[in-house]
Formats: sequence, structure tokens, C-alpha cells
Amino acid sequence: MSILADSVSGYLGHASWIRRMFEAGGQLKARFGAENVYDFSLGNPDLPAPAAVARGLRAFAEHAEEPFAFGYMPNGGYPWAREKLAAHLSAEQGVRLTADDVLLSCGAAGGLNAFLRAVLNPGEEMISFAPYFVEYGFYVANHGGSFKAVMSKKDTFAPDLIALEEALTEKTRVVLINSPHNPTGVIYSRKDLIALANLLENKSQEYGRPIWLVADEPYRFLAYDGAEVPSVLPLYPYAAVISSFSKNMSLPGERVGYVALSPRLQEKAELMAGLTLANRILGFVNPPVVGQHLMAAALGSQVDLSIYAARRAAMGEVLKNAGYEFQMPAGAFYFFPKAPGGDDVAFVNALLEERVLAVPGSGFGCPGYFRLAFCVEERVIRNAADGFARARAACN
Ligand code: PLP
Repeated sequence: MSILADSVSGYLGHASWIRRMFEAGGQLKARFGAENVYDFSLGNPDLPAPAAVARGLRAFAEHAEEPFAFGYMPNGGYPWAREKLAAHLSAEQGVRLTADDVLLSCGAAGGLNAFLRAVLNPGEEMISFAPYFVEYGFYVANHGGSFKAVMSKKDTFAPDLIALEEALTEKTRVVLINSPHNPTGVIYSRKDLIALANLLENKSQEYGRPIWLVADEPYRFLAYDGAEVPSVLPLYPYAAVISSFSKNMSLPGERVGYVALSPRLQEKAELMAGLTLANRILGFVNPPVVGQHLMAAALGSQVDLSIYAARRAAMGEVLKNAGYEFQMPAGAFYFFPKAPGGDDVAFVNALLEERVLAVPGSGFGCPGYFRLAFCVEERVIRNAADGFARARAACN
């Protein structure tokens, strides 16, 4: 008998694909040397943080011996940090935000959990489009809710709004979208977002309770060829953007993120009070001290995007030359090609034979595809070319 809660021992018994690849990668690296293993399994940004982050850290260190330098603060973050963030997001999201519209959180993950804690009753559901970031299901379950996935449109991975409409019920409290998207790299169009907002507006009226639209946006900064990433905040009063500085400033371990609300929301003060309480009672208490100083010092700067763009081009070339079927990602740092032969798990195992690490689409609720993260040096992508070609050819 397990000493653990059933849910947790169940999760442990079904290790995630990313975890399994991590372990398989460790064994291959020990056997063949790290330089002979091509690891595309992890979305852990490898670029150094922008220079303004180090400058902010040094400036903070000057004050680190003062009383309360590391003290508790309001549960939603330092008021001065919220003000700075609101000014930055006003320009980015095209709406006028004040410090009262934003809450600082422990990463986007902490923001998502605070939001769900604040709005979800046990038994209610959150819907997202498959493929999806696998942690969403855990986050909803943390708060007694259920997670429902609706498949995106075939091949393009645009949101399928007809399928969503069929899936909505009186129990649906949140629809969560992620654009630019992990794992497909798709950016949702303005037209789709307007149609989505209209659908949720109508359904909220029909059910007599709002359905929240949450946009999970940690990859907003990473859009290629000048692609536009439209904001949901001007489109719908019950919209929230949840994001972080994990990817654009390469600060994932520092755990600083935020929730930003639509200025059109009438019950803003009530929701903000709920989010602030949720930050506290979930045990986050407040966002990290140092992370807020780094964020404030570096707002507006980001990692060198031209490096990600060059890797994207290199990966596109390698996959095309080897005969894979895929669409170029419009944003984020992932490719999501079709698995040759159709069986994504079998194909990822075939890649493993070539010392190439990928994650099967099944791990994102979308069998038949596999994910490649290109936050690795360009030479790793190029050196993997022969392995990609051999694995592809073996499936003919
Ligand atoms: N949402 C998506 C789609 C992600 O890919 C990630 C991290 O990889 C997160 C949320 C979590 O981001 P954070 O590290 O800021 O909590």
C-alpha cells in the first residue's frame, strides 16, 4: 500500500514522456559521451539572460544588507514592481493597465495555479486545445477540477472553434489557450481570437456565468518573420494573460511571472483580491524578491532572438532534407512533425537508436506527431542530421 495520495502515486507510476526521455538521455550520454547525444527533449532555454539582468542583480546586491531587503511583501508582489510591469504590458498588449490590473506570481505555472484556485469550484472544468502542455491537467486537478482537451484543427493546429462549442458545458469555467504554442509553434490569428471571444461571450450569457479565457503566453516574445501575436485583453472582459520571464529573459529557475486582467472586467477588484489570496494560501506567499528586481531592471530587453531564428532555419532544413512532414513554427522554439509510420512512440524509440531525443505527441495528447525543442546549439541540430535521415529512411 502506498503512503502517498492515490493521485500522486498514480502520477509517479506514469512518468511523463519528458521525464522518460531525460532518463534515457542520461544513460546514452554516460555511454556515448554528451557530444554524441542530440537532445531535443527539453524546453529549457540555453541562451544567457540579457545583460540588464546581471546589472539588476549587481544593483540589488548593493542593497542586500539593508533591513527587509529579503522581507515578506504584499502577496501580489511589490507595488513598484507591479506598476513597472503594468506600464510595460500596456504597450505590449495594447490596453491601458495599472498596477491594480497585474499580479506577480511564481512563474507562469504559479500564476495559472493562483488563477484556477481563485475561479474554479471542485467539479468544474477547464478546456484547452490538444496538443497541450501536459502540466495543465495537473494544475486543474490541484483544485479539484477536471481537464478536457479538444483537438485542434488537423495539420494546421489552429483552434477548432466548432469542436470547442460542442465541448462547452455549464461546468466549463475556463478555456485556456497558449499562443505561440508549445508544442506546435502555431500563433493564433486575430480572426480566430475574435471568434473565440464572441463564442465565450454568447455562452457565458446563455449559462448566466462567465467562462474565463486564459491566454498562457510565455512564448509571446518569440514570433518569427515579424508575425503578430494578438492580445486577448481588448477582446473580452473575462480574459486574462498569464505569462513569465522564464523564456524571454532565460530566467526559468528564478520563478517570476504574472497575471494581467482585461481592463474591461467590471469585477476586477474582486478577482484581484481572490488572486492575491490564492498566491498566499497556495503557499507561494509572494513572488520571489530577487526575481522582481531582475524583472524590473530588464523589462524591455530579452535574449538574442536571432539565435533562435537561425536554429529554427537549421532545424527546418535538416527535417526537410530528411523528408519529414512538418509546418514551420511561427513562434516558440519547437517543431511538431508527423511521426513517419504513424506510431509516435515507436518512432521516438527509432530516433533513440540514433541517439536523438524527442518527445512523442502522445505526451501532449496528440499521437502521431513528435516534438523537437530547438533551444540547443545549432551544431547539435546539424550533427543530428544523419540520425534524423536514417530513422526516417528506416520507416519506409
Ligand atoms: N506554459 C507553457 C506552454 C510552457 O511551455 C511552460 C514552460 O515550459 C509554462 C507554461 C511554465 O512556465 P514557467 O516556467 O514560467 O512557470
